[in-house]
Amino acid sequence: MTSTLIKHARVVMGENKLVKCDLLLKDGLIAELAEDLVCEADHIVDAKMALLLPGLIDVHVHFREPGFADKETIATGSSAAARGGFTTVFAMPNLNPVVDNVAVLQNMQALNRRDAVVKIKQYAAISAGLTANKVDDLPALAKAGAIAFTNDGKGVQTADTMYQAMQAAAKVHKVLVAHVEDDSLIHAGVMNAGPSAKALGLPGASKLSETSQLARDLMIAKATGVHYHVAHLSALESVELIRIAKQHSINVTAEVSPHHLLLDDSMIVKDDANMKMNPPLRSADDRAALIAGLLDGTIDMVATDHAPHTDREKAQSMLTAPNGVTGIETSFPLLYTHLVKPGIMTWHRLLEVMNQKAAEVFGLTDAATKLAVGQPADLALFDIDHAHTIRADEFASKGSNSPFINWTIFGQTQATWVNGKQVYAAERSEAWQNVI
Ligand SMILES: [Zn+2]
Repeated sequence: MTSTLIKHARVVMGENKLVKCDLLLKDGLIAELAEDLVCEADHIVDAKMALLLPGLIDVHVHFREPGFADKETIATGSSAAARGGFTTVFAMPNLNPVVDNVAVLQNMQALNRRDAVVKIKQYAAISAGLTANKVDDLPALAKAGAIAFTNDGKGVQTADTMYQAMQAAAKVHKVLVAHVEDDSLIHAGVMNAGPSAKALGLPGASKLSETSQLARDLMIAKATGVHYHVAHLSALESVELIRIAKQHSINVTAEVSPHHLLLDDSMIVKDDANMKMNPPLRSADDRAALIAGLLDGTIDMVATDHAPHTDREKAQSMLTAPNGVTGIETSFPLLYTHLVKPGIMTWHRLLEVMNQKAAEVFGLTDAATKLAVGQPADLALFDIDHAHTIRADEFASKGSNSPFINWTIFGQTQATWVNGKQVYAAERSEAWQNVI
């Protein structure tokens, strides 16, 4: 194994301080760290005072392969993850075929191992085809290595199916991840029901679709004792429900996406499919509640729900275009620029919500959660000092369906390492890879 010495980086110390640090990576691990390290190494990288963090963890990505490789592949999706500073991602099972049995799961794991440049954990579905009422063989899927269970993309419509799934997941000590959405309350809406939908003449979807099913699930979670994790919260009432559930010791955690933290439906001023996702962007009040919930610990983590689509699909009206936006390449810089830089969130909390909480909730043993000797050398280096404008043509993802094109951000990734191996280097890479 080779060794890499990273010189002149800054790292997070305590709640919100940045201090200078050198690191030596050896045999896939962090071997040494000190303010000034002098030692031999196969590669020496001058970090130029960029910020070095444990590699980010995203528990919610759609890499589309097999079945939808025109939107994304494991190779392009994982390259996009590396470009975003992520070293571990959790892949959703809504593929073709759906990951709902052991044979498909094992095939997915083999494809992930073969094609990915970052670590991929594979979810399995709760029920066949994501829609059946009969629960899959969760013990067998758990034994075969599914990280957790979810029908993401579809709500579990029948309470009894959720009850059985939660009982089974609890028995094998796996997290049950829910996409909460009651189909009977969508009413063909393509964006949040509210003044913006009215002004644009587009059908609106009520947030009752999310909140009513979440309330149901919390009661079933309480009855079963399962660890229940809620995907992509979008509504103020959802944050309140989770806050109350935690006060009552229900075993619940939750995630929020960068787009629900930074956008709301008042910003949808034209029929633009890059603003269409599920759940939809809600009101400014909902958005404020999501930020408050993330800051006070009600919401545990940020997950991108990276959902690439082709340009052709997203060129359609919101009426017919598919749901979803990309996010894995813009998540860190957007959150840094809009939450940490203005002093709304500390570095410590950012590390919790983009790395440590995910590892804790899902029991990861092979991901770095701090910079310390013996940790896996999963690292990312971010330039927090220079502004950058997000461009559609710069993504490693096949999808450029981002609502953040032309936004100016700080925090572009400069380099990413997985188990000590460099898997991403920014364009101006010579400067970062030069031997000192
Ligand atoms: Zn999703």
